[in-house]
Amino acid sequence: MSRTPLFRRTLPLLLAAAVMGAAAPVVSAASPEAVAGPADAGFYRMKLGAFTVVALSDGGFDLPTDKLLVEDRPGQVQKLLGQAGLPTAVPSSVNGYLVDTGSKRVLIDAGSGALLGPSLGKLLAHLRAAGYAPEQIDEVLLTHLHPDHVGGLVANGQAAFPKAIIRADRREAKFWLDKSNLGKVDASVQGAFDGAAASLKPYLDRGRFKPFAAGERIEPGISALNLDGHTPGHTEFRVESQGRTLLVWGDVVHVAAVQFADPKVTIHFDSAPREAEAHREQAFRDAAQKGYLVAAAHIAFPGIGHVKREGAGYAWQPVTTAAP
Ligand SMILES: [Zn+2]
Repeated sequence: MSRTPLFRRTLPLLLAAAVMGAAAPVVSAASPEAVAGPADAGFYRMKLGAFTVVALSDGGFDLPTDKLLVEDRPGQVQKLLGQAGLPTAVPSSVNGYLVDTGSKRVLIDAGSGALLGPSLGKLLAHLRAAGYAPEQIDEVLLTHLHPDHVGGLVANGQAAFPKAIIRADRREAKFWLDKSNLGKVDASVQGAFDGAAASLKPYLDRGRFKPFAAGERIEPGISALNLDGHTPGHTEFRVESQGRTLLVWGDVVHVAAVQFADPKVTIHFDSAPREAEAHREQAFRDAAQKGYLVAAAHIAFPGIGHVKREGAGYAWQPVTTAAP
């Protein structure tokens, strides 16, 4: 397998070649509770009880599955991609989610900012398009500290969210903010150390970074749950209002067409692939059994839907975003 530092080299090259139009989200009003922005606005708004949730597109890139995915059975990835009519380089989304509780505006993941090339880094523009100024964000919760989730914390060298407190799992921060851990991860994610340090610096300097412990309640209706494996402090956020539950996933899924059918397929970005796989299966089982709504960072925009049992595996059912 390639030991190329993909995040620093291959990905930006791939991103530069990405077909931006193909990744541009197209949404419109759909289910009775969904009120979407204009077509291809890059945001998708829905109600969750008394809360408003806004999916924000950071853009897209083509994920080279042959270089990055690790299959449990030879030929499995190509077979599943073929069944889905997808190429080896799979068009992929990067999404963040704003939760407006009415009293607080909480952003979950910040997108890539300037770290990963011009086909990404659009979250801030789409936040504004959805009617929010960056100064209105009270908190930014990070599922983990990889560059496609933290890069957008910085804009033009400054804190992009000047009034926000930034929060991530304590183990996650300890790991990625200490470069002596460099040798513990795959070469494809070694660039994440510099990315995390640069993205958090403006907030660390001003005492605005506050780590949390797994299981902690962040706000009324928002708690942080441990999903480690992809990274040492990988987190999902459970958002609840008036009896409705949304689970916001970071990197539980990278390629939906492959990993729902076969959750054992991992990715070189995983710090601990076996733990990542176990938590993926747990997350799928939990979401399918309880019927929770899920929002996922790398499922096709808006990345919101349900998980269903299908055969020996699972399937993804996106919310309906087509015009009625
Ligand atoms: Zn990611």
